[in-house]
Amino acid sequence: MSTPATPAHILIVEDEPEIAGYLRRGLAFEGFSVQVAADGHAAIAAARERPPDLVVLDVMLPGIDGLEVARRLRSASAVPIIMLTARDAVPDRVAGLDAGADDYLIKPFAFEELLARIRVQLRRQRAEPAAVLRFGPLSIDTGAHEVSIGERRLDLTAKEYDLLELFLRHPNHVLTRDVIFDRVWGYDFGGESNIIEVYVRYLRQKLEAGGEPRLIHTLRGVGYILREES
Ligand code: CA
Repeated sequence: MSTPATPAHILIVEDEPEIAGYLRRGLAFEGFSVQVAADGHAAIAAARERPPDLVVLDVMLPGIDGLEVARRLRSASAVPIIMLTARDAVPDRVAGLDAGADDYLIKPFAFEELLARIRVQLRRQRAEPAAVLRFGPLSIDTGAHEVSIGERRLDLTAKEYDLLELFLRHPNHVLTRDVIFDRVWGYDFGGESNIIEVYVRYLRQKLEAGGEPRLIHTLRGVGYILREES
């Protein structure tokens, strides 16, 4: 099935400017049309003015909270809603699903995780099958999370898979360390600075175990690129 010509319109409801900005930049980078509302009333007004294809909704909002926003949105439309909840706020999650949310994500989360949930909801809404992404001998089934190179099936960890999917969605495109870090490890990750190098090395070992030519190239001081060298 072909990709729709119009990008999906996503409404982000988040009062923390840093997180809202992080989500807006990331989703715009993925080609979505994005709008941010900083409180519940603005969210309901925005949804009325331009009905979104999906809503990312924080529970903790000033004024009317995310649960009430979900109820009001849900009374007017079947738009998929992904709620963002605080860690350990189990009652929030249950209440969120009761209020009509389709899925929830616990803060802090890695952007790729949110993106995967968004794609699931949009596919469900548009009745689209999961995409199989291909690049040269490489193919990944984004529904089953299956990865092959030629005839060889690869066994990847979750982070290796996220990193490889990021490359496959942006072939022949330089991915800076900042973008990779942001996208695969998330805004709140305080890990070691060489983690990207380590994971790229793991991926290369698996991708090249059958003597295949290198696909993920290092651009020193810049980042990485998925590219076939002729
Ligand atoms: Ca908030």
